[in-house]
Amino acid sequence: MGNERADALAKEATNRPDIQLTTVPNLYFIEQLIKREILAEWQDRWSNSSKGREVFILFPKVNLTRVQGDFYINQLISGHGTLAAYQNRFFGKAADCACGHPLEDRKHLIFDCPQWDNIRQKFFPPNNKKSSIDLLIFNNKSRNGLREIMKHKLQTLLSSLENEEIQA
Ligand SMILES: [Zn+2]
Repeated sequence: MGNERADALAKEATNRPDIQLTTVPNLYFIEQLIKREILAEWQDRWSNSSKGREVFILFPKVNLTRVQGDFYINQLISGHGTLAAYQNRFFGKAADCACGHPLEDRKHLIFDCPQWDNIRQKFFPPNNKKSSIDLLIFNNKSRNGLREIMKHKLQTLLSSLENEEIQA
């Protein structure tokens, strides 16, 4: 009986001179619209911020799919963590490198520091001085080399902290 009633109403509706139709944008359309707006706002903030400029050099465009979950590599991407330049900026520690260079930042660590020549030779492409940081970070082999360097850095930092505790 319900079906017959529905058929009758449908037939009746087709006989009207005007058909009233209300459309509502579907959920997918609304989601895409919101996503586009949020991405545009995020991009605007990211492009115009004064924060995180070391990361900005590597990732100028925001996106929702990139995931970096590597503890060691993230320190190189962000310039944070065990790098002496960061330790200096945030904790007032010495900014110089163990090799004698006045600033241990990510550029020095990745390209110049003689402490890591062996790791560079083993993992980096031969012309790595001409490479960019992002190429080294996203190449699997050189990425493993960078991870080795950062592991050494962390061990050195942790043992220096242990020594500080022993002396205190
Ligand atoms: Zn150095």
